[in-house]
Formats: sequence, C-alpha cells, structure tokens
Amino acid sequence: MDIEHHIKGIIGKIDPDSSRLEETPARVAKVYGESFSGYGVDISSVVSKFYDSGMDDLIILKNISFESHCEHHLVPIIGTASVGYVPQGKIVGASKLARIVDCFARRLQLQERMTMEIAQALESVLEVKGAAVYLEAEHFCISHRGVKKPESKFVTRYFSGILKSDPNLRREFLESVQKN
Ligand SMILES: [Zn+2]
Repeated sequence: MDIEHHIKGIIGKIDPDSSRLEETPARVAKVYGESFSGYGVDISSVVSKFYDSGMDDLIILKNISFESHCEHHLVPIIGTASVGYVPQGKIVGASKLARIVDCFARRLQLQERMTMEIAQALESVLEVKGAAVYLEAEHFCISHRGVKKPESKFVTRYFSGILKSDPNLRREFLESVQKN
C-alpha cells in the first residue's frame, strides 16, 4: 500500500467530511517523498569529487539550515547544523557538506543520532583527521505540544579524532559556531 492510500485513511478518520479533500492525499505523499528522500542515499555518491589540498587546519561550514522529523511523533525538527573537519589531504566543496546534512535530516530522526551520523559520514568518505558536528534545533513535539516550550532549543555535539582529543581545537570549533 502506498503512502497516498494511507493518508486518505487518516484524513477520513480526522474529518468526517473529507470528500472535499480529494487531492490532499496525493499532495501529502509528494511532501513525504521530499521530506524522507534521505533513505537509501549512498554518501559516497553524494561526495564523489575531492580536491587535493595542503590544507591541514580546521574547516567549518556553519549555520546550515535543516528540516527533519522526529521519529517519535512525526513532527518537524527545524534547526541549524555546523560541520567542521580537519582534513588529511582531501577536501570537498562546501555545498557537499550541506548535502551530507540533508541526507540524514531527510529521514525520521533522533537529533543525537543524526549528529553522530553526519560526523561518521565525514570520517568515512573524507578520511579526516577529526570531525565535529554541532546541531541546534527546535522540536515541534516539545515546542507545540506536550510541555509546550516554544523557545527551547535542543543542542547536540559530536567530536571525533583530533577534534575530540585536542581541547584547543574543540574550543575553537565551538567558539566559531556559537558566534553569529
Ligand atoms: Zn518527538
């Protein structure tokens, strides 16, 4: 059974007069197709072009906006991601870092897991000396329902390699991503 069919069933349960919403299930199925297009994406095909560089210092792309969905309530998680790495020769175009974030955001997620997945993707495709990921997001399941805390932001970080072992480097990363 496809998503469209199931959405039709859900709408029928919500709105007894759902006959006027004939086109809604197809539209919702399309939205879901976009929101959850991160499944089955092979990261090594997303990041297939590398550049050789003598660069061996910290590289950061910060404030990458993302939209994900919480796997417990299927409601939006809206936030920003900052991604950093210390290369070991190979570097990638900045847009590829944003694409990696999208690959994992466009799934049903736990922010903690997504933070780790982004860092591990960098480690595996770029063979970095170290990776760092910082996510800050509003979870609609906290801000708009349940405890209703609209200003709350959930912050998660993950460090690996040299960014984990070198406290100065880690501090540098955090200072640059937390600055506007
Ligand atoms: Zn939730």
